[in-house]
Amino acid sequence: MKKVLVGYGIDLDAVAGWIDTKDGSPADPVEISRGIFGATIGVDRLLKLFAKYGIKASWYVPAHTAETFPSQMLKILDDKHEIGLHGYSHEYVSQLSEQQERDVLAKSIAVLSTLGVKGRLGWTAPAWTTSMRTVHLLEEFDIAYDHSFMHHDCMLYRTPYSSYVAKSTTYKYEDCLAADWMTPMAVPELSSLVTVPANWHLDDWPPFAAGDGGSDGFVDPHVLERMWKDHFEYCYAEYDEFVFPLSIHPQISGKPQVLQMHRRIIEWLNQFEGVEWCTFGEMVDRFQKGQIQGFDVRKAMGRHA
Ligand SMILES: [Zn+2]
Repeated sequence: MKKVLVGYGIDLDAVAGWIDTKDGSPADPVEISRGIFGATIGVDRLLKLFAKYGIKASWYVPAHTAETFPSQMLKILDDKHEIGLHGYSHEYVSQLSEQQERDVLAKSIAVLSTLGVKGRLGWTAPAWTTSMRTVHLLEEFDIAYDHSFMHHDCMLYRTPYSSYVAKSTTYKYEDCLAADWMTPMAVPELSSLVTVPANWHLDDWPPFAAGDGGSDGFVDPHVLERMWKDHFEYCYAEYDEFVFPLSIHPQISGKPQVLQMHRRIIEWLNQFEGVEWCTFGEMVDRFQKGQIQGFDVRKAMGRHA
């Protein structure tokens, strides 16, 4: 008997990532209009899709979106979806100072709580970039789980602190001897946090975002649908227990041709025995209760001494 937890993570970026251009240049009003489309039309269409199939999803909301589109937030809350953190204005965490990273976490937690979001919150890094200190800060702010790291692609796991990465990234050839860098990576230390694995190949942005996603955006949705089905079929054949977390954006997946793809995918997944739709928060609960197999990064690296 297979046990498969399937879920949608929705990054409700809206205009946050476009209004914060990150380099001081002015925002493009047309991009802002794409964001407004996502937060309004896109959200409404996705809520309708999820209601039709009885799916509860996980919405990761930059606090800028939450403050700018409060009535859309209420619709998501009314439909009993999970809401999690995604920065204030979709900041690239790897570029922030420690103080900025702290301030963004504190403010975004406060904004979601003001809107009535209860309980411990999950977090996904904007653009899936983090700093060396992020995992420590997420623990300090009592974040329920992470959805950014990519150590596995179909199993949950305890999140390693990122300090094991540091040594191999701080040398400059001109400042040292070869002996200085010819050392193995340090043994990862595991944090108390859990990661629901992120995966660019289970994300709608790279194939469908016009101009800024690694493609021109004009990918036939059947191509992505086939890729997602291949991913799922491999896991279903090879693992008795696994997770299938999809990541989508309302300004992308709220378009008619992509919504049609989601309909087909949902109906196709529902034919498999053992498939259960749930939020990412529920996946983490099940993992922590030992109800679904997970992955151990340290053990897999053979470095658990
Ligand atoms: Zn995002």
